Amino acid sequence: MNLHMNYIGGQWVPAQGGETFESRNPARPSEVLGVFQRSTNADVDAAMAAARAAQPGWADTPAPQRGLILDRVADLLEERRDDIARTIVREMGKVYAEANGFDIQAAINTARVMVGEGRRLLGQTVPSELRNKFAMVVREPIGVVGAITPWNLPILLPSWKIFPALLCGNTVVFKPAEDTPLTGIKLLEVLIDAGVPEGVVNLITGYGAEVGERFVTHPKVDMISFTGSVPTGRTIASLAGGELKKVSLELGSKNAVVVMDDAEFDLAIEGCLWGGYGTSGQRCTAGSRVVVHEAIYDRFLDAFTARVEALRLGDGLDEGSQVGPLVNAKQLDRVASYIGVGEAEGARRITGGRKLDHEMGGYFFEPTLFTNVEPTMRIAQEEIFGPVVSLLKANSFKHAIEVANATDYGLSFGIYTQDVNRVFAAIRGLHTGVVNVNSPTMGVEIGVPFGGVKNSGNGLRESGTASIDEFTELKSVMVDYSGVHRRTGVNEAATRT
Ligand code: ADP
Repeated sequence: MNLHMNYIGGQWVPAQGGETFESRNPARPSEVLGVFQRSTNADVDAAMAAARAAQPGWADTPAPQRGLILDRVADLLEERRDDIARTIVREMGKVYAEANGFDIQAAINTARVMVGEGRRLLGQTVPSELRNKFAMVVREPIGVVGAITPWNLPILLPSWKIFPALLCGNTVVFKPAEDTPLTGIKLLEVLIDAGVPEGVVNLITGYGAEVGERFVTHPKVDMISFTGSVPTGRTIASLAGGELKKVSLELGSKNAVVVMDDAEFDLAIEGCLWGGYGTSGQRCTAGSRVVVHEAIYDRFLDAFTARVEALRLGDGLDEGSQVGPLVNAKQLDRVASYIGVGEAEGARRITGGRKLDHEMGGYFFEPTLFTNVEPTMRIAQEEIFGPVVSLLKANSFKHAIEVANATDYGLSFGIYTQDVNRVFAAIRGLHTGVVNVNSPTMGVEIGVPFGGVKNSGNGLRESGTASIDEFTELKSVMVDYSGVHRRTGVNEAATRT
């Protein structure tokens, strides 16, 4: 039995309640990847206490030195990328190339950006209103950060939280998703081997529903950084709000890609295919609504259907697989339930729609395409988190933007067009945190902030330098070197020295 422990205060320890749970391969559910600690509130308490105790010493470590540890993290992720990528595939099902080329690469890039940030962590100097006075703004750690992450990007999303949180001088308690505990442990091993000191990063595995409330409201945690579903985000925000904890939320979306009549056709087909069906649609950036101009709608539908039907499903470790299984049986049933929902509302299923668990042995679902979809239908409004794309028709550019915006979400939208005027009008008009022009909605650049508007988050941004704002407090400092007592005020500033 491959039994794994929690990591608290520099020790691998069992959960105090003595319970465990298994992680299984969604492509072949009889394969157990390991047995993990089913933590309870007592384990949350121990992890928070360890993180709290280690925080002052870590904050006192010069930021460039903290950055050097992250340099080593990046090196170790490079060295171990094949093993970690295989673990991701076996644990949550995405194909190997995505795990290796995207998930792990983005984590490496994040670590490298943070190395540089260790030598910047820029504050500000500001001209004082008075003579002989100096005003500046410095950054300080927030304290103990609780990181709660989902299973769909089980290296990238923790790295977006843990690496900048550490770089900024915070200590961390990390709870990976219950579907990907082994990947979480592989990341922890990298951090430990890179030299992160005892107590600075801690991990507890288990079910969010069981430990979540204690985790979020714990007196020793200062901030919760969460990525996951909207309902859980709401729960966390209200729990954290009651305690006035800081909270950062990256939630779901119902992204739209506009394909205009002047789009480079093949490029748009390719981008919508990857955006809609990559990671089996299990991405908060999935392009699950494609809004096509009526002039090319029929041609697009034919060409897109042919490509969707040609997608090869299979185990993510098999070379030819393009689409892997869904993460678990519950998700398979949930996605399947949307087929009836769409049809009942009058959408037309063009292809797909079947569970393939009996034929293929794992939680596979056929890549599915709906047409005749109206913007108000549930399949156009709700995040399905599966390989299900809805095609919507627009009769003008303006109409297309309206349809794209007709959602409660706004994370990563896109447009395919060759018209520069439409490009800029779309950049302004799409109500979203990320806009992709002539490229798929899925994918991130580490150099730019990532996050959404409306129900896709609570306003903070992650990725690259933006995450420094997420994980630091600003402290304003005024140094009066006049030797004179002055009451700072606007009029005084103008008149007194
Ligand atoms: P998903 O549907 O993608 O699994 P969830 O929001 O349920 O999304 O889960 C994302 C993460 O949130 C997981 O690590 C999960 O354990 C955790 N989680 C689930 N429920 C809670 C909760 N009530 N409080 C805190 N964390 C939770």
